[in-house]
Amino acid sequence: MRIIIFGPPGAGKGTQAKKVAEHLGIVHLSTGKMFRDAINEGTELGKLVKSIIDEGHLVPDQTVVDMVEETIANEDYSKGYILDGFPRTVEQAVAFDNLLERRGESVDVFISLHAPDHELIQRLLSRGEGRSDDTEEKIKTRLEVYKKETAPVMEYYQQAGMFRSVDGTGTVDQIFQRILSAIPKR
Ligand code: ADP
Repeated sequence: MRIIIFGPPGAGKGTQAKKVAEHLGIVHLSTGKMFRDAINEGTELGKLVKSIIDEGHLVPDQTVVDMVEETIANEDYSKGYILDGFPRTVEQAVAFDNLLERRGESVDVFISLHAPDHELIQRLLSRGEGRSDDTEEKIKTRLEVYKKETAPVMEYYQQAGMFRSVDGTGTVDQIFQRILSAIPKR
């Protein structure tokens, strides 16, 4: 099972992806978390992306695509995975499709989580994880980047036919149940 969970910053992708991964026994791949880990570990990749992430901008497509390609080639990913934070541009979506095609694989479902802007901002400001990009100014930049560069990814998957829209408001568990209902049974 290969799942993409999609939505603006603050939509709850990380929280829900973790629950879905545990429930289905698949791996949770968060590109944002991978980058934050790389920054904390001080790796070459971490040094490359730190200032970009701190500013709320996007890491270059090729850097992200290479990282995802390398990661999913791992044995742990053979049973499936849920992608959180990727693809984040139409270019990444196209590159990911090509990559899957080379592997003879495809995405089973694309789950788009939505919530009103005021709620997203409220959640990001109150989550208190101490993230350097969770300040009011950086949140504003991230929402703008989302609207301009990331939202078009939805249309790409709508055309491909595995698109599901899920209401991201309510309790964590209510949202989780909606997501489970949106995942095809097999
Ligand atoms: P959020 O969804 O709350 O913005 P993420 O953890 O998904 O948080 O991402 C944090 C940051 O990591 C992004 O603002 C961006 O700089 C970088 N990033 C994560 N995934 C990608 C990606 N697929 N393409 C480009 N940049 C990314």
